Amino acid sequence: MTFSTLLATIKKNKLKVDAELLELAYGFAKEAHHGQIRLSGEPYITHSLVTANTLAGLRMDEPTILAGLLHDVPEDTPRTLNDIRENFGEEVAMLVEGITKLGKLKYRGIDRYIENLRKMFVAMSSDIRTIIIKFADRLHNLETLSALPQRKQIRIAQETLEIYAPIAHRLGIGVLRTALEDAAFKYVFPKEYERVTSLIEVRSKQYTESLARVKERLMEALRRNNIHVVDCHGRNKGLYSLYKKLLYHNNDISQIYDLIALRVVVPTISDCYAALGIAHSLLKPLKGRIKDYIAQPKPNQYRSLHTTVFCDLGEIVEIQIRTSEMHEEAEYGIAAHWQYSTIGSNRNIPAEFADWIEELAKWHKHKSDTKEYLKSLKLEVFQNRIFVFTPDGDVIELPDGSTPIDFAYHIHTDIGNKAVGAKINDEMAPLDVELKSGDLVEIITDKNRKGPNYDWLKFVKTRSARGKIRQYAKPHLWQRLTPWPLRK
Ligand code: MN
Repeated sequence: MTFSTLLATIKKNKLKVDAELLELAYGFAKEAHHGQIRLSGEPYITHSLVTANTLAGLRMDEPTILAGLLHDVPEDTPRTLNDIRENFGEEVAMLVEGITKLGKLKYRGIDRYIENLRKMFVAMSSDIRTIIIKFADRLHNLETLSALPQRKQIRIAQETLEIYAPIAHRLGIGVLRTALEDAAFKYVFPKEYERVTSLIEVRSKQYTESLARVKERLMEALRRNNIHVVDCHGRNKGLYSLYKKLLYHNNDISQIYDLIALRVVVPTISDCYAALGIAHSLLKPLKGRIKDYIAQPKPNQYRSLHTTVFCDLGEIVEIQIRTSEMHEEAEYGIAAHWQYSTIGSNRNIPAEFADWIEELAKWHKHKSDTKEYLKSLKLEVFQNRIFVFTPDGDVIELPDGSTPIDFAYHIHTDIGNKAVGAKINDEMAPLDVELKSGDLVEIITDKNRKGPNYDWLKFVKTRSARGKIRQYAKPHLWQRLTPWPLRK
């Protein structure tokens, strides 16, 4: 990794970065870190360069890339934040200050969990770019993690899975989420990592031919129908994301339908729907697997059409259809929006993320102590929706007042139907308790349980949980519960 690699990335992504200023920042950081060697044996400046290069790959703006080069200067060198301010201005200094504050985070189990989140939220609410720099920094730290003692490796990797990756996911930055998760995965669950890696390898090899054939047929048909294909490529499923899916399906790989996927990028939204129709006329779709995330985007704004089809030999392939804009947003999320803008800071945040960040920003204006903060985090910031975590570190968004049963059904119908208890922040809790933002929720299931308890209908908040419980209800019980005119 050299300075010219960074320059090449900037050029490739057509970023507006003053090359002279960039070289000054590089020289400044190099001089400041002079003589420092990372535990991996590399000179310290390599870390600064890789971090800045990741940010350039995400197409971040000039101040962010400069801050990436300088991010460890105040903490680890004789040079101060003031030196950075004098040389590179207020905006770069502010970003570096934000990262330096985040750097002091120490993760120590569940007790410190919310406190960690708090610091991330505070940084995010003042300038979201701080978090993105932190992600880039963490990614390189994970890539060189083998140089650290094992206890530290696990702590850093676990923190990544539980806090960093979920936030990257919530901000829609798919490339970062997958990179962070897969780099951390092997340290937290080494055996599972091996297993999933070889599973994917074997399956990809088996599918190479049929995937190529499906691609060819589909491209041909699209061409015949005058639909321009901007891009068509196979996508690799993230290792950690596959691992989590396998967990939910009792390790039954036949239940995973999106292991192999083909991505089709077309110019317009109507092309997306037309392409879906064409795909279905060629290849038999699997029932119940057609998902319209264009009409109904995911909470992190992910948009695409998904369908699962059978190939010639009965293999199952997922097809994802989207426009270039959707593709860009799925890969870079909130980061996709900086390249078009000229002003820094959170004013650039697109409307779809604004609510979330704005609520955090609102709180940020009030100075208060930790206890006060936690109270306001729960009462104000996530007023209408809460934000809880699965044991795997996934972020689940639910309406205010949701209970462990709502959570369970959100994860999977089976988990809801077989729920017998809940653990909240490692403590047993009743199934009708109201969840709060930041809670870590674990559902205890009993595989012998026949179905849901109809009394749950009295307290569940989400429509989906209610629907699934009702679906299970036997007609006579159902009639007893709901007066006839209300029945739908
Ligand atoms: Mn660093």
